[in-house]
Amino acid sequence: MSAFSAIGNDREVDQNEFTPGIEPQPTWCPGCGDYGVLKALKGAMAELGKDPEEVLLCTGIGCSGKLNSYFDSYGFHTIHGRSLPVARAAKLANSDLEVVAAGGDGDGYGIGGNHFMHTARENHDMTYIVFNNEVFGLTKGQTSPTSPQGHKSKTQPEGNAKAPIRPLSLGLTSGASYVARTAAVNPNQAKEILVEAMEHDGFSHVDFLTQCPTWNKDAKQYVPYVDIQDSDDYDFDVSDRREAQEMMHETEDALYEGTVLTGRYYVEEGRRSYQQEKRHRGSMPEQPLAERYFDD
Ligand code: SF4
Repeated sequence: MSAFSAIGNDREVDQNEFTPGIEPQPTWCPGCGDYGVLKALKGAMAELGKDPEEVLLCTGIGCSGKLNSYFDSYGFHTIHGRSLPVARAAKLANSDLEVVAAGGDGDGYGIGGNHFMHTARENHDMTYIVFNNEVFGLTKGQTSPTSPQGHKSKTQPEGNAKAPIRPLSLGLTSGASYVARTAAVNPNQAKEILVEAMEHDGFSHVDFLTQCPTWNKDAKQYVPYVDIQDSDDYDFDVSDRREAQEMMHETEDALYEGTVLTGRYYVEEGRRSYQQEKRHRGSMPEQPLAERYFDD
């Protein structure tokens, strides 16, 4: 497949434009799913014809936070769980930016869980990628909000007593207008979903399954996976909230029983993003705030 691609802007973009000039040696472990996110994100940006200077990537703390080091765009490596408020502020200041926020499952669903709920509710126009590997990887494998019940770790040596969070259902009930799950082992689907998520007007939540072979050896490697849009076994309407909710429940139960379902779950068209709603109400100027302050 060519590294050149574009469906958005007029010019062809080489995904290598998103590789830093002096490429740092990745410090992710061999076999880590995070490589898959990086590859899919670069491919999606090229597909959309984005220039690196049109993109802001905000990350939290964790192995996922290293994404900034290997992805050449504007970047903001924030504190733990805080990538979303920074991303929101940046989008409000410069609505022309393609804003992507990223973090791990501990960062996004635990420490930053409140930010997740309210950014989804307010439908901020951005894409949020949650690297879901079911552990806190950077800090050596502690139990996280998505660790399955019974999962053994240094913090829960007898096995996790807590039921895991249901990320897709949480995204939907919080108010995200685009909700999908993909996996690092499925790079083509991952790229397609990231393209859709970035094209969507509103808050796009992508639960991205990323294997952590170092600290979660017993966990699924997320293979074989099923793309629910490609399978005849699943038939539901992604624009119907109730049907999406039922499919999410089935998917979340199945994951902990060893079946990996991925795909698009909910797509709400026609709802104004936060930025659009503000403009509609006359409380936000058409011109990005950043331009008003920095124009000559
Ligand atoms: Fe990836 Fe896990 Fe290694 Fe972190 S500890 S780089 S999540 S494999």
